[in-house]
Amino acid sequence: MRKKIVAGNWKMNNSLNETINLINNLKQNVGRTDVKVMIAPSFPFLKTAVDQLKDVNIEVVAQNINDNKSGAFTGEVSIDMLKSIGVDSTLIGHSERRAYYYEDDELLLKKINIALEFNMNVIFCFGEELKDRKSNSHFQVVKSQLDNTVMKLDSKSWNKLVLAYEPVWAIGTGETASADQAQEIHEFVRNHISEKFNNDIANNVSILYGGSVKPSNAVEIFSKNDVDGGLIGGAALNASDFTEIIKANS
Ligand code: PEP
Repeated sequence: MRKKIVAGNWKMNNSLNETINLINNLKQNVGRTDVKVMIAPSFPFLKTAVDQLKDVNIEVVAQNINDNKSGAFTGEVSIDMLKSIGVDSTLIGHSERRAYYYEDDELLLKKINIALEFNMNVIFCFGEELKDRKSNSHFQVVKSQLDNTVMKLDSKSWNKLVLAYEPVWAIGTGETASADQAQEIHEFVRNHISEKFNNDIANNVSILYGGSVKPSNAVEIFSKNDVDGGLIGGAALNASDFTEIIKANS
């Protein structure tokens, strides 16, 4: 059975003290839940977050990894470094990485492959831009993003993967895909996985929705059959909003 997940992507926000305070608030609020909760603070604070959450059921996730094992890559962070501080999962393919750092499908596949090689879990993000939706090519764009990356993996890799559908036009804009729009893409993706691999893999992979999820719309979005949770940006920076969103997935 696939997992229900709510993951918070804190992006390049929060000082050390703000990170510690936010985690303390989450620890108090989240409590026992059948939802898998994940947070992705920025690199300098990952170790602090891991230590703070030692006895708590909230997993710390990296926002990015380098596609090389180690070496002369100034300013970059390797999987080994992350694993050595107790971080076993990473986002890959967030639209901000694609747009601002020119990460294309080829590089993203390299990142996925090295992550899997070193036994790291991957939350792989994909989603169309506004122009794609306006020209009605969103299904085709999503299919191509997946065909160039995760669809090239072998079937054994899928238990280390979570997918996150994040329409770019809904990220940080306040505009959300409707629950039906999210469901339509999630169902399409699940069917595509089933055709390419099998029903088991398709039914066991969690597919999250991301794009301006808030306490006010989370229940409706998470109620859809193929939506297994959310990847949350802005609202994850507020402990009570994030907690409400987690509860909306219970
Ligand atoms: C994100 O960045 O992954 C995201 C979904 O952001 P927001 O919730 O702010 O739209």
